[in-house]
Amino acid sequence: MVGVTPESGAFGQALTGLPKPLVRQCVLLVPVALDLLVLVLWGSPGDVGLFYAGGLALFGIATALATGAALLPAVPRAVTSVLPVVDLAAIGLMTMVPDGNGMGVLAVLPAMWLAADHRMRGVGWALLATLALVSVPSLVYFGMDVAWWSRALLVPSIVGMCAITVAGTTQLWERQNHVLEEQGQRLEQAFADVVANQALNKAIVTTVDVGLVALDKDGAYKVVNPRHHEFLDLTYPDGHHGRAGEVGFSFAANRVTRLTHEELPTVRAMSGEAFSDYVVWIGEHPEERRALSVSAKPVLDAAGDFDGAVLVYQDITDLMSALRIKDDFVASVSHELRTPLTAIMGFLDLVLDEEGSVSPSARQQLLVVKRNSERLLRLVSDLLFAAQAQDGRLALDVEPVDLPLLAWQSVADLAPRAATGGVALLHELPKSLVVNADPVRIRQVVDNLLSNALKYTPAGGTVTLRIVETLDDEVALLISDTGIGIDKRELSRLFTRFFRTQDAETRAIQGVGLGLAITKSIVESHDGHIDVESRPGQGSTFTVVLPRSGPHGAAAADQGDDQLAGPVTVGS
Ligand code: ADP
Repeated sequence: MVGVTPESGAFGQALTGLPKPLVRQCVLLVPVALDLLVLVLWGSPGDVGLFYAGGLALFGIATALATGAALLPAVPRAVTSVLPVVDLAAIGLMTMVPDGNGMGVLAVLPAMWLAADHRMRGVGWALLATLALVSVPSLVYFGMDVAWWSRALLVPSIVGMCAITVAGTTQLWERQNHVLEEQGQRLEQAFADVVANQALNKAIVTTVDVGLVALDKDGAYKVVNPRHHEFLDLTYPDGHHGRAGEVGFSFAANRVTRLTHEELPTVRAMSGEAFSDYVVWIGEHPEERRALSVSAKPVLDAAGDFDGAVLVYQDITDLMSALRIKDDFVASVSHELRTPLTAIMGFLDLVLDEEGSVSPSARQQLLVVKRNSERLLRLVSDLLFAAQAQDGRLALDVEPVDLPLLAWQSVADLAPRAATGGVALLHELPKSLVVNADPVRIRQVVDNLLSNALKYTPAGGTVTLRIVETLDDEVALLISDTGIGIDKRELSRLFTRFFRTQDAETRAIQGVGLGLAITKSIVESHDGHIDVESRPGQGSTFTVVLPRSGPHGAAAADQGDDQLAGPVTVGS
């Protein structure tokens, strides 16, 4: 017998490319031809009876039918269903030879085909057809002897078992096929989505006007868009090796200080840091330098481990130029205003100093003029200072400074204002603590923070100034108040120039929003930092931390730092 699969027709069809019915006929042809050969070689003409010849003829007709159907564009379903029945009839006839033969077993093949095509219905047809076309004719031909019973039971039961197995297996195979097909479709869809997304991402990456870089976990450049290639050419005129951390012509926000290896955006990103708006300048020649605002985010793998980083570089040269023009304008206007204002105040002092030079009422009016001129001069000086500080033009005059003494002087100067406002101004200061700093600038920091604390603390509140030495050879200046406080959504913009909180505006508390920006510039130019903690309605604490050795490790300061016994209160 020929080895077949449940869908032997389909299998053969796949192998030969011929239609299923024809393949099946060919499969059946092999045992039929063998049996005929045996008869021709070793049998006598009497062995080939009329029935056998009729069976052969029927088989020939079925094969011709299958061949004819194969020529059609599509084999009619009826042909596929009828052919196995015709084959069973042919097999039934061919079993009717005087000495009997084993052809009856061949009924298994058409039965399996019926089961494969029509499942359990096909099993029923196969059994019926086997009984009617194979078993009953042989009963008639051989008579009901013992051998017949054996054949009559054996053939239909083999046929039934094979047909049921094929029907079940085909059903299972079909179900699995269906599942596979569905999975295949889903995979195809997913693949199409991935391809479409890739195309979209590629289009975005190549079109956007920002530089984009994706680094892998070893710091190699995985993706670089065309815009960033322009930035790379400018930073590395001699070429770039495609790895994070190459020091080229990159400069800090002040445009002149070369970035160190650790300060490079790619190195910061590779350390897992996420940052935004990191301003760097790139380019060998100062006049060709471009300003970039860099943002970075680490990329994590499925297990949450660092797997690289993505960096975005935005060209902000035009913005920086506009800001510079604005700062230059503000600086020069402030500068021009300062000279006549100083002259006005000088002459006012002369008039006011001279006893009896003006009437008492005119003196009162001139005092108002003087107060406002002083305010105007302060504002103009702040504007000039802020413009210079922003531009990195802040020159420091560093020397050893006794910080508690400096702070105490500021407290003493502001004590009358605290008293007028009904605010208690307290301080807790060590006896002496020397730091390397610019005394004028640091005094400005203390004055700004203390006067803010007094300004934003209603009567009955308390403002406290403390100085403490921290670890790492640093000193911290803490100015706390019990005033109006700051909303946490506004904290991040607090040190931006001209920023004022909503609350300060609503309460119409005077100010322009420059003091904290200036304070921050001074602190940072001393290599220190300033932080704030605040709760609306409860108060704020500003903390300034300065290195005792001064900016960039200026000459070591004297270390006398005895604590004053207990807090001392000035004013009430
Ligand atoms: P201003 O001249 O407006 O005081 P600053 O730069 O010194 O400018 O402060 C900016 C803003 O920060 C202020 O307008 C105010 O809204 C808020 N602020 C500063 N210090 C305090 C404080 N101690 N308590 C509450 N709000 C403060």
